[in-house]
Amino acid sequence: MKERPAFPARLDLKPTKAKASNPAKPAASRDRTPVLGLGLDSQAVRARMMQRLRDDGVDDDMVLSAMNEVERHRFVDTALVNQAYEDTSLPIGLGQTISKPSVVARMIALLRQGHNLRINGQLGRVLEIGTGCGYQAAVLSRVAKEVYSIERLRGLHERAVDNLRHLRQPNLHLLLGDGMLGYPQGAPYAGIIAAAGGDALPQAWLDQLAVGGRLVAPMASSQGQQALVVVERTAQGYQQQLLEAVHFVPLRSGIA
Ligand code: SAH
Repeated sequence: MKERPAFPARLDLKPTKAKASNPAKPAASRDRTPVLGLGLDSQAVRARMMQRLRDDGVDDDMVLSAMNEVERHRFVDTALVNQAYEDTSLPIGLGQTISKPSVVARMIALLRQGHNLRINGQLGRVLEIGTGCGYQAAVLSRVAKEVYSIERLRGLHERAVDNLRHLRQPNLHLLLGDGMLGYPQGAPYAGIIAAAGGDALPQAWLDQLAVGGRLVAPMASSQGQQALVVVERTAQGYQQQLLEAVHFVPLRSGIA
């Protein structure tokens, strides 16, 4: 076995001094930005995460490369940074969690197995329900032409805006709203992906899915357990597949 990399023991997680870094940056985002030396260390632990994902059977290179680029530690509280590259879900505040990397990889890979990929392998427009801390939205913005990500909790929406500022992804649109209604302004979608699960799929999602598009979401199965559901919209109608059991936070209506 190779020796464990020193990350995060070598990290200096003290907030940066305003003047030393970027005086124009607002305090809230400055305080959560880990500082120097992180680049190299986090690349090493991320490489280990990528290897684990490959070992677990993830073979979608576009997804792997997107997850290799997005620094997951930037999306979790500083107290949890040392777990950022473990295959575990983590609390992100307001009773919500960031999904574990293997689930993010699995769901985005499933999304990309639909029929309407672009010529270069990119998805067209994608809708994500449940922005949370914004991690999965960041990964999606690297595999899709346009991403609309919607969150119903103002506190998390604002946090995601803050977390994602450094990436400056012009194709990523963060919205505060009730994702059960979808986002008709961006429809039809090549892909719809939900990070929260209810008893049934909201009709709006099905309506806003493009013909040839794919929806991947957790949903309560008839046994009362939650499972991943994949829905494909074809010219003839909808085809649904029930996959493995998962544990996502509940889908709720309204904004809070
Ligand atoms: N993809 C996220 C996971 C967040 S957990 C990440 O990478 O961090 C799921 C999120 O779904 C929670 O933040 C929860 O508030 C949100 N959610 C639940 N019901 C929703 C709804 N109807 N519309 C929008 N967001 C919703």
